[in-house]
Amino acid sequence: MSASRDEIHILEDDPLVAGTVARALEEYGFATRWFRTAGELLAAAARHPPPLVVVDLGLPDRDGMDVVRELHQTADCGVLILTGRDIVSDRVLGLELGADDYVVKPFEPRELVARIRSILRRRAHPATGGAAHRVAVFEDWRYDPGSFTLIAGDGAEEILGAAEARLLLCFLEKPNRVLSREQLAGTADLAPFDRSIDVRVSRLRKRLNDDSQSPHLIKTVYGAGYVLSVGVRWETG
Ligand code: CA
Repeated sequence: MSASRDEIHILEDDPLVAGTVARALEEYGFATRWFRTAGELLAAAARHPPPLVVVDLGLPDRDGMDVVRELHQTADCGVLILTGRDIVSDRVLGLELGADDYVVKPFEPRELVARIRSILRRRAHPATGGAAHRVAVFEDWRYDPGSFTLIAGDGAEEILGAAEARLLLCFLEKPNRVLSREQLAGTADLAPFDRSIDVRVSRLRKRLNDDSQSPHLIKTVYGAGYVLSVGVRWETG
C-alpha cells in the first residue's frame, strides 16, 4: 500500500486521454493511478496524498476547479490542470486556486511529462523553487498575486481590488500578447457596447502611472484589445 503514495493520480473521465497521460508518464518511470470521478480521487488523496494530481476540468460529478481548490486546502500535493478549455480566466483562476501548472489539450506527451517533472522538482526544493508564492517583476514594479499587492519602485505598496487584480494577472501571465476584451473579461459573449473592461484598464493604467493618452505599459490595439508591452519576470520564494 505504501507504494501508492508515489503514484501520480490522473483525474480524467475520458479513458483515451487518461490512457495517453498514463502511458506518457509510465514511459518516463512514473507509476500512475486513474480516477474517473472527483469523488473517488478526493477520497483517495485524503487517505494518502499523491505527489501530484493531473486534473481534468470537465468531469461528470464536479467542476474540476472545485477539485483544485479542495486539493490545495486538504492535500499537500502538486496539481496540474489538463483541460480542453483554453480560456485565460480558467488559467488565472486555476493558478489562483493553487494549481501549479496548466496544460491545454491536445498536448504533447513529452511536454506534459516535462511540466510534471518541473512541478515535482519545485515541490521537492521549495527554498529554491518557491512553492506557490510567485511575484511578478516588470519595469520597476513588483506584483504579488497571492496578496493582490502592487509594490512601486520606491517601496510604496497598494492592495488592488479583486477585479483589478484579476485583470493585472491576465496581463502578467501573457505579456506582449494581444488580449481581447473577452479574454480579459473572462467571458465568451461580451456585449459589443460593454465598456467595463476599458474602464478597468484605464484604472489599472492610473495605478501604474501609465499615461492614458500615450500609454507605454498597457497599450490599446484598436479593434483587437490590449497588450502589456513590457517583459515580465516571475520570481519565486
Ligand atoms: Ca473530461
